[in-house]
Amino acid sequence: MKHPVIQSLTTKLTLAFLLIGILGAALVAILTSYSTRGEFDKFVTSMGAEQIKAELEAYYSTNGEWGDDSERKAAFNPLWGDMMLLDATGETIFIPPYQAPELFVEEIALEVDGEPIGTLFTKSNQHTYDQYDKWSNRSRQETQFLDNVIRASLLSATGAAALALVAGAVLSRGLTRPIRALTEATQKMTDGELGAQVAVQGGDEIGRLASAFNRMSHDLAAASQKRKQLTADIAHDLRTPLTILGGYTEGLKDGTLQGSPQLFEIMHDEVGHLEHLVTDLRTLSLVDAGRLPLNKRKVAPKALLERTGLAYIMQAEQKGLELRIESADSLPPLHVDTERMTQVLNNLVSNALRYTDQGQIVLSAAADDDKVLLQVRDTGSGIAADVLPHIFDRFYRVDASRQRERSGSMSSGLGLAIAQALVQAHGGKIAVESTVAKSAENNPSGTTFTILLPV
Ligand code: ATP
Ligand code: MG
Repeated sequence: MKHPVIQSLTTKLTLAFLLIGILGAALVAILTSYSTRGEFDKFVTSMGAEQIKAELEAYYSTNGEWGDDSERKAAFNPLWGDMMLLDATGETIFIPPYQAPELFVEEIALEVDGEPIGTLFTKSNQHTYDQYDKWSNRSRQETQFLDNVIRASLLSATGAAALALVAGAVLSRGLTRPIRALTEATQKMTDGELGAQVAVQGGDEIGRLASAFNRMSHDLAAASQKRKQLTADIAHDLRTPLTILGGYTEGLKDGTLQGSPQLFEIMHDEVGHLEHLVTDLRTLSLVDAGRLPLNKRKVAPKALLERTGLAYIMQAEQKGLELRIESADSLPPLHVDTERMTQVLNNLVSNALRYTDQGQIVLSAAADDDKVLLQVRDTGSGIAADVLPHIFDRFYRVDASRQRERSGSMSSGLGLAIAQALVQAHGGKIAVESTVAKSAENNPSGTTFTILLPV
């Protein structure tokens, strides 16, 4: 395994900054020195050539001719040695010994009073500079100037590298701080502390990662809490009927209780409740696992409503409630498991019957684009806004104590959770709207459940 410091993101980023800094500065230094030298050479050469041109023209205008070699040597700058001179007719006046004429490429015309007197040739820039450097006193200073320029470039390159190192270290520490915080929080979650949160800074990629992490962590904690609560609820709901049954069977065994039709009726109800609870839990677990078999068939929405309506019409009449079905005949047929959809509607209507003391319960069907809306509407007690978001939760009962007196021991709080799971298994949605009466006289209260199913 590599050393942790080398593996650290901070070190990697700092090194990357340093590398870029050094490369950039080196590039600048090389380009600067190269182009300075080139420009400078051109300048120096043209200066030297201009000076020689002037000297040659002055010599010719006093002499009236080019004269012989010894005269010229005495009169001119030693620079002469690296130039070629032709007269106006193209005859060679001077060429340095042992040098080919092709070497001389830069051409300068010489004239006196507008009359051409000859042509001066110099070598290419670089070559001239090298000769010049060896011979001229002044050009040594010029060489020094160039050296200084290069030294300054190198110095600034070193400075830039140092700056890159410092800036890289500071910047990368800042960049990796939220990542370190995220790692710490993830570690906490691994150790079992669900719900750990990190501070979100800014909306950049890391900021978005942090807020996504926070959401995930929060959801995980909530899910874990829900699971614990669910287990406790299941245990509690199984315990009550078992305690009752256990008490009765013990009394029967000891002979302290005499068997009677009422006693057996109660025991039978409790067994029925246990069975109901276990069936509900099994249905939920099947839907959760995506393994609930759906026996889908085509059915008219109205037929579905009538089936539930018929099942509950007697109960409604006994309570003095009106149970009505409202549906157009021309609705498109639904493709659903009729047993399961009836289970959903039965649960909604049985709830409505339980919480409605006067008025009516209406089952309606309507078309909505390519969907069918099924509604169960009651004029009952209504559901308070603060508990409305929870009524689809498993084992959720608004008021557990009031529940007992209304429904005996048969209420589990799983009805709506199952209804929602079944509707979703059909690719549909279920929603609820409810109003609670502010005072007894005005403001009719009531609840409406709406199921939206694809056709
Ligand atoms: P189960 O259906 O398993 O016997 P339950 O009816 O108590 O039990 P749900 O059907 O899930 O459970 O309903 C949850 C809670 O929502 C109920 O306890 C009740 O307080 C409230 N609720 C449901 N329907 C209505 C309604 N039509 N009017 C008023 N409150 C309702
Ligand atoms: Mg119910």
